[in-house]
Amino acid sequence: PQLANQIAAGEVVERPASVIKELVENSLDAGATRVDIEIEKGGSKLIKIHDNGSGISKEDLGLALSRHATSKLNSLDDLDAILSFGFRGEALASISSVSRLTLTSRTADQVEAWQAYAEGSDMAVKVIPAAHPVGSTVEAVDLFFNTPARRRFLKSDKTEFTHIDEWLKRIALVRSDIHFTLKHNGKVVRNYRATSTQDQYLQRLAQISGKKFAEQAIEINCQHDDLKLTGYIQSPFFEAPASDTQYFYVNGRLVRDRLVNHAVRQAFAEHVTGEQASYVLMLELDPHQVDVNVHPAKHEVRFHQSRYVHDYIFQALQSALQQVGR
Ligand code: ADP
Ligand code: MG
Repeated sequence: PQLANQIAAGEVVERPASVIKELVENSLDAGATRVDIEIEKGGSKLIKIHDNGSGISKEDLGLALSRHATSKLNSLDDLDAILSFGFRGEALASISSVSRLTLTSRTADQVEAWQAYAEGSDMAVKVIPAAHPVGSTVEAVDLFFNTPARRRFLKSDKTEFTHIDEWLKRIALVRSDIHFTLKHNGKVVRNYRATSTQDQYLQRLAQISGKKFAEQAIEINCQHDDLKLTGYIQSPFFEAPASDTQYFYVNGRLVRDRLVNHAVRQAFAEHVTGEQASYVLMLELDPHQVDVNVHPAKHEVRFHQSRYVHDYIFQALQSALQQVGR
């Protein structure tokens, strides 16, 4: 199974940031409200994710490391919805096949915690007693130690850190209900506290996208039929250099989509000349109205009613900009 897992790993695990993405998504799936990420050497030496989610029972611990062992499929109906979100039940097995991985966990109804790890060429899973509060810790040490070709593809620690940091920004902007921390080489470098008020969200926005943007941003809060658009966009009066704050989420997932970009750019067209505008926007719609897996790596989506969605975004932003412009 190790070879099959390593092949699968090629798809799931490209670099430390992709490992962290998979692990943090598992923490969020498990209902965690706090996720602490610890890395060493850009994640190539150590990736450690600690969460306060539901935990994994002793019986399920070993299973979690085997391929296609997902707890997230209950019926064939789910399969449809879940496939599109990329739940494949192979992230842990894949990561475990290309690193030294341990999974330590305790559920609320267990007195003890347990730790699982795969060992030997057959990757037989061992489960031993451990100490751990309710929740889980996944530790992946020496990423790609047994796949040298892939290890050589890793960039400098600094570059790998930047990928991780950028991914964390993305998730932190949309999951503002979660407390995230990031520690690199023993030092806490990011601390995004959970937010529940608008003021607190603006503080997080300031941490991630800069004080200037957070101070002058215009709030968007529109609802029309089954479409909802919320977030912040830059004021038409705000002069700023080209921004890297351009985040658009569809049902919680970041997208980089031509149709969306076009709608946003058009709305700003008469206000921001030259530079591109800053925005953090979340669109919510019926999941049946959108295919998210068109091209996972490119973050493309396909709206079933694309014209309608495009015009909705355009009009919502345009009217917000006009109101301020008056
Ligand atoms: P998937 O997320 O696609 O189900 P994974 O390989 O990522 O597959 O995880 C396998 C299973 O391990 C999950 O379905 C879940 O039951 C369990 N699991 C993994 N990480 C956690 C976590 N942090 N907290 C609770 N359960 C987890
Ligand atoms: Mg997963």
